[in-house]
Amino acid sequence: MIKELSVKTSSRVELLDITHMVEGVVSQSKTKSGILTLYVPHTTAGVTINENADPSVRKDIIKELNKVIPFDDNYSHLEGNAAAHIKASIIGCSETILIENGSLVLGTWQGIYFCEFDGPRTRKVIVKITEG
Ligand code: ZN
Repeated sequence: MIKELSVKTSSRVELLDITHMVEGVVSQSKTKSGILTLYVPHTTAGVTINENADPSVRKDIIKELNKVIPFDDNYSHLEGNAAAHIKASIIGCSETILIENGSLVLGTWQGIYFCEFDGPRTRKVIVKITEG
């Protein structure tokens, strides 16, 4: 099965916790065991898995990405969002997560984050579950 989630971001750069949305897709599918692939079909957004307990981790990730890849740096891309393209490529546009006993196999402190780099916008996340 394939499912398309809609994600609304509210800042230019933002890490949005979508763990519960993805868990919802798993429980809806009634899949007991399998592989879930998350795919972000955008060139200025991505997806990552990281700490979901202390929100300062998200803040630090954004802070450092913005420091290493500044918004303006005499880029060639004239659309004004070169930094967002670079950040999206560094973070990546997909994640693979195992499903076991009907739940995502995530570490205690892991959450799934949609990474907005050129928001705010309404975005898509594609979820594909392969049973097995
Ligand atoms: Zn662009």
